[in-house]
Amino acid sequence: MPDAPRTPLVAANWKMNKTRAEARAFLDSFLPQAAELVGTDVAICPPFTALEAAIERCGGTPVVVAAQNAHHEASGAFTGEVSPTMLVELGAWGAIAGHSERRQLFGETDAALALKVPALLDAGLVPILCVGETEEERDAGRTEEVLRRQVEADLDGVEPARLAEVVIAYEPVWAIGTGRNATAAQAVDAIGFIRSLVSGRDRAAAEAVRILYGGSVKAGNAAELLGGEGIDGALVGGASLDPEEFVEICRAARQ
Ligand code: PEP
Repeated sequence: MPDAPRTPLVAANWKMNKTRAEARAFLDSFLPQAAELVGTDVAICPPFTALEAAIERCGGTPVVVAAQNAHHEASGAFTGEVSPTMLVELGAWGAIAGHSERRQLFGETDAALALKVPALLDAGLVPILCVGETEEERDAGRTEEVLRRQVEADLDGVEPARLAEVVIAYEPVWAIGTGRNATAAQAVDAIGFIRSLVSGRDRAAAEAVRILYGGSVKAGNAAELLGGEGIDGALVGGASLDPEEFVEICRAARQ
């Protein structure tokens, strides 16, 4: 499939890192450097407690702020959860959904994601849907089967006309936080396969949907990974905690 002109997106997943003060300090260093990043979209995903501080600091800049999770309901008896409506009120741009840490450590299921992804869209948020296989699944030759199951189930409730509004992140679980990134060829293959799955639902959406790679992206490997055909940017964990390194990764997406 020919590459459509999709604006690259680089998103920082801070996980459970950075207090409000630390988030402000990061942005005070990062935002002046981010001003030169014309042609690349940048999102910061802080923990809930630092969302408002980050949104305030990013106001008037092109950098957007997303949460790392949200519940699918707008309100109700869901202790410990935060709703899409609450995130919209804060000024959030989007939310990560289905990160492998949430799937593995907090029991997030494809059934929950089938509700969450459309709920985020309906609230006006951009879902960054994470999918990816474990090392065991890859070794068993089951990567495509796993990706198919996740993509089909998690996007089931999204109408074809809205599929392109979702950002998908291919994040092989074995590459997350391990320092062992996928090769560009592995990422290109998996992302091409994910795009073909979206194409099965809607051809135009498949050409427009942004599909990122995530898993041990660093300043040193970003150019190679982000240069891969069909790779529309990166979801970055550990290396996004340092403003200098993160800006280098964002620059690599511009190529
Ligand atoms: C992530 O948590 O989404 C991620 C890709 O982490 P890391 O870059 O640290 O592997």
